[in-house]
Amino acid sequence: MQDSHPLIRKPDMPASPSLRQRLYPLLPQIAEHFGTPFHLYDEAGIRTTGERLNRAFAGVPGFREYYAAKALPNPRILAIARELGFGFDCSSVAELQLARGIGARGDDLMFTSNNTAPDEFDAALADGGSILNLDDVSLVAKLPRMPERICFRYNPGPARSGNAIIGNPVEAKYGVPHERIEDAFRAAIARGAKRFGLHTMLASNELDYRYMVETIAMLLSVVQTLSDRLAIRFDFVNMGGGLGIPYQPHQAEFDVEALGAQAAGLFAQFRAQHGWAPALHMESGRYVTGPHGVLVTRAINHKHSYREYVGVDACMSALMRPGMYGAYHHIDVPGKPAGAGDVPVDVVGALCENNDKFAVQRPLPSIDDGDLLVIHDTGAHGHAMGFNYNGRLRPQELLLTRDGRVERIRRAETLQDHFATLDFPPDTWPPR
Ligand SMILES: *Cc1c(COP(=O)(O)O)cnc(C)c1O
Repeated sequence: MQDSHPLIRKPDMPASPSLRQRLYPLLPQIAEHFGTPFHLYDEAGIRTTGERLNRAFAGVPGFREYYAAKALPNPRILAIARELGFGFDCSSVAELQLARGIGARGDDLMFTSNNTAPDEFDAALADGGSILNLDDVSLVAKLPRMPERICFRYNPGPARSGNAIIGNPVEAKYGVPHERIEDAFRAAIARGAKRFGLHTMLASNELDYRYMVETIAMLLSVVQTLSDRLAIRFDFVNMGGGLGIPYQPHQAEFDVEALGAQAAGLFAQFRAQHGWAPALHMESGRYVTGPHGVLVTRAINHKHSYREYVGVDACMSALMRPGMYGAYHHIDVPGKPAGAGDVPVDVVGALCENNDKFAVQRPLPSIDDGDLLVIHDTGAHGHAMGFNYNGRLRPQELLLTRDGRVERIRRAETLQDHFATLDFPPDTWPPR
């Protein structure tokens, strides 16, 4: 599709190429009203992608997406995901609480933690429960009680390759190794489990749908072996998340329709062979909301040193991915189309940390103090990953709603928030 807006450099921008057209004309006023910096999320885009995901898997009976709450843990966003029919993958007590806060219960919740502490199991089992996904066989004995249905996270080890974010399966801390997966289910059965699921999560931001097809085939093959050996059936397999988005302008989008069609084939084949088949669950975060968020920040300083620097009013507290993973996030300067005269600059925050850069040697149009910069694809693992090093505070979050209004859905942190943990009753040991 050809987008007519002159600033479009990224024709592959998934799902909502119209965000720029809807947003940029209003951006100066939005920035004026709310102040910068802010993450802004696009409700229309999230819904379009969510509906597309559901449609792509319509041929797989029992398909359900469990949105990975950690990607964008804002109740307003989770409520939209719930309206799309999604459940939630939670990996902490806070995420369980958020998802329950918008009405998710029981089967709507998958609790996938690792190195789990007892209070996390208590929270996962309380308040209508959740689908417990255990990371190791040793946790079976540590559960306060065995729920009727249990799931294990499977780590295939050398049989598969992972990627930079998750790590090579052999080195990854997650999941039950191949040699122990049967023992894990045996231990759960011995403690009374009667219904079963098998989970894995092997790659993150993977753009090749064929990797995910292989993951589903792997899960079905393990399910087949386990159901034969243990005389059990599986309610579901969960292929994890990890569907990628094109952060870079030249990248093609993930072919979710091809994945859905091939998945449907694999499940139909399994059903034909066995007379039953598990349901398919997925827990994408990035794919659903990643492309539908932007970080808007204002240029406040310029520096000509050995390189050209543009200093902006956001920093790693708002977006860690460039500093942490060297991740590329596309940057627009609305009103200043990219062109032949672009000069390579480093776009930097104020942290005393040299990797506090949103872009390194990136050709950008000439930027003046006061210009707004739009950093793309911050709708997943963006705000949520921000940290408070240097006492730098996390920014507000805004939602561009379907009817074109902009709503604040989280305020910016204040110094009072930041210092809140210094306010406590004195305590000393040994007592005097
Ligand atoms: C982070 C995570 C996800 C979501 O990953 P995306 O790359 O955002 O799709 C899903 N499942 C588990 C267990 C995770 O830790």
